[in-house]
Amino acid sequence: MRTDILGVAFDNVTLDEAVNRAMALLEREGPHLVVTPNAEIVQQARHDPEFARLIAQADLVLPDGVGVIYASKILGCPLKGRVPGVDFACALMDHMAQTGKRLFLLGAKPGVAQEAARRLTAQHPGLAVCGVHDGYFQEDVPVAQIIRGAGADVVFVCLGAPKQEKWAAAHGAETGARLLVGLGGSLDVFAGQVERAPESWQRLGLEWLYRTIRQPSRFRRVAKLPLFLFSAVGARIKGK
Ligand code: UDP
Repeated sequence: MRTDILGVAFDNVTLDEAVNRAMALLEREGPHLVVTPNAEIVQQARHDPEFARLIAQADLVLPDGVGVIYASKILGCPLKGRVPGVDFACALMDHMAQTGKRLFLLGAKPGVAQEAARRLTAQHPGLAVCGVHDGYFQEDVPVAQIIRGAGADVVFVCLGAPKQEKWAAAHGAETGARLLVGLGGSLDVFAGQVERAPESWQRLGLEWLYRTIRQPSRFRRVAKLPLFLFSAVGARIKGK
């Protein structure tokens, strides 16, 4: 049973449970899709029925942001906690390194995925990164074929939402991978281009504030968070 937050149904799982589910999906023929919506993505899905349908059909829907957790409390169906996409990816890579699964990194500006691969293989000994490709390509099919040729089990699709989910749904089968994970700007973080908030900020649920201070251009995106929480209050009052 999933927990509905303003039209997006989330899996109510901890980080460990999420990774165990993902590893189980890897044992079965794919493609399987993992999505990591935050408040902004829930808002997008409310105005984009195709995107909402893709999220509903995903195999694992993880609550990435603190806004989703607050909304779940407001709605009276509290989720166990945040499962940030970056943390999920790191824990999954540890398991992949132990089980010999192969990872493809797709997305971000040219050169970023290479640098992310270099750092990730150093941080997760035994991890097999079987290929990388930047996220600014014109033709989809050749990219899917490159991933198939690389023999990837898992693809981190980092093209931003909703592009990454739409790409994974349309081309996941062509890639031959069993698991495609939409991870937004994670490759920028893994490559050291974007710094993550210190742990104390993360614990306080203020990662969004830290990112906005470091990248003021994100302010317009964060400004939608109060509206999201008001929508949750409205839905609670209406008894939805
Ligand atoms: N991106 C991409 N191709 C595109 C558009 C965006 O590869 O056509 C990348 C962009 O370079 C960035 C990521 O997608 O690395 C989106 O990052 P953002 O911070 O917007 O995502 P978030 O983590 O907030 O979901």
